[in-house]
Amino acid sequence: MEKLQNFINGEYCDPIQGQYIDNYEPATGKVYSFIPNSGTEDVQKAVDAAEKAFPIWSKMSIEERSKILVKLSEGIEARMDEFVQAESRDNGKPVSLAGHVDIPRAVSNFHFFATAILHFASESHNMEGLGINYTVRKPIGIVGCISPWNLPLYLFSWKIAPALAAGNCIVAKPSEVTPYTAYLLGKVAQEAGMPPGVLNILHGEGGSVGDAIVKHPKVKAISFTGGTKTGEYIARTAAPMFKKLSLELGGKNPNIIFADCDFKEMLSTTLRSSFANQGQICLCGSRIFVERSIYNKFKEEFVKRVEATVVSNPQDPAAKMGAVVSKPHMEKVLSYVELAKEEGGTVLTGGVQVKLDEPYDEGYYIRPTVIEGLAYDCRSNQEEIFGPVVTITPFDTEEEVLMMANSTEYGLSSTLWTSDLKRAHRMADQLQAGIVWINAWLVRDLRTPFGGVKASGVGREGGWEALRFFTEPKNVFIKY
Ligand code: NDP
Repeated sequence: MEKLQNFINGEYCDPIQGQYIDNYEPATGKVYSFIPNSGTEDVQKAVDAAEKAFPIWSKMSIEERSKILVKLSEGIEARMDEFVQAESRDNGKPVSLAGHVDIPRAVSNFHFFATAILHFASESHNMEGLGINYTVRKPIGIVGCISPWNLPLYLFSWKIAPALAAGNCIVAKPSEVTPYTAYLLGKVAQEAGMPPGVLNILHGEGGSVGDAIVKHPKVKAISFTGGTKTGEYIARTAAPMFKKLSLELGGKNPNIIFADCDFKEMLSTTLRSSFANQGQICLCGSRIFVERSIYNKFKEEFVKRVEATVVSNPQDPAAKMGAVVSKPHMEKVLSYVELAKEEGGTVLTGGVQVKLDEPYDEGYYIRPTVIEGLAYDCRSNQEEIFGPVVTITPFDTEEEVLMMANSTEYGLSSTLWTSDLKRAHRMADQLQAGIVWINAWLVRDLRTPFGGVKASGVGREGGWEALRFFTEPKNVFIKY
């Protein structure tokens, strides 16, 4: 069986302690490869390599750096099929989704930041008659990038691309549950002519290798995407070391539907915003609030569409949903369905594991699930489930739905369906979220800030925000 390797100093290498972890294929529930169980010594090796590479990479002209990153983006594109298959196999998502979303978006991220850096400017502030301030933005040095399993390469690239473009060297760790596409990235970096040590990719568990990256004194910034609890631990550990922190955390996003919306468009988008990637996108709208006058119509038509959704093995072109990422995750999601029942909810459809034929009979498949009859403030409506489970709740007024929408500790994204322009602006202004989509979902413009408020995170990714995060501003004043 294949053994994956770390990528340090431009080369693939085994973990120093020689330990490995099983890598499961969610579609079959079987181990299909082993990944390095790296530790502090591997992190030290990667930091040493990054330290050596930093003067070379940070002093390279922006044009040259940009060219290497464009090649990296093109390198992934050239191996599109290999990356798509690997992402689908590792994560359980349908091949069609990896081919339409994950890998093309990772390609775009690299291309976007490779070219954005050519236009990144800093400011100057004139003080009439006295002098002038100019601000230079310098790369930070060695940065740590830690990413989750739901959109593996896509979210990995969302950090790595701006960090590299800004001139930093990286020690990165993908999720141990989905390491494969990050593993393949090393080959592409070699082919793109990336100097050794600029990009180091370590595999292993969060509690050991992730923790060692966070704690290493020479790693000056941490860009993390993952759960709120892990984010809190990282903040507690890194803050006393005065590291720069960008934390993209969990969500429990509201999807608010007014009676005056375009019903047909809303319905098909709501199907996606509920269950795309098996509901494992931090931006999924898991709490659906529907204006009472259309509640029954919505419920009937939505449930009908959900029941028609094909859950199948990721290779099946008809699959709209594949497997969830792991057995423990499947069990967690199903335990929330049980909790919802205990809290008085009625499961309108789904709530059960799906058994497919061999060789997929041990895979982690769940029927998309719709639950009604829950209080807005019960645990099922407040805690992140991160799977194919949505709740539906009627509302009567704007004030009431705003109160319910804003009632969780999270504040990542919100979706709003209405044709009333004034209401759309009024609601967008009051929703506690870093991102509001009106009559749309998951539309991304790479120039816009991405991130959440409250327990959904600290800082923003995307566009200039990311390049600002990965640079230190230095202001220089000179007297006239
Ligand atoms: P986790 O927080 O469990 O893990 C995220 C990453 O952190 C993984 O690589 C993990 O390693 C690592 N990690 C775990 N513990 C530590 C530690 N002590 N120190 C350093 N690193 C550590 O999240 P999941 O992977 O389960 O991802 C799902 C979560 O991510 C959900 O809450 C979701 O909302 C959130 N998310 C947020 C997004 C956003 O943009 N706001 C986007 C996508 C997801 P390992 O898994 O190998 O142990």
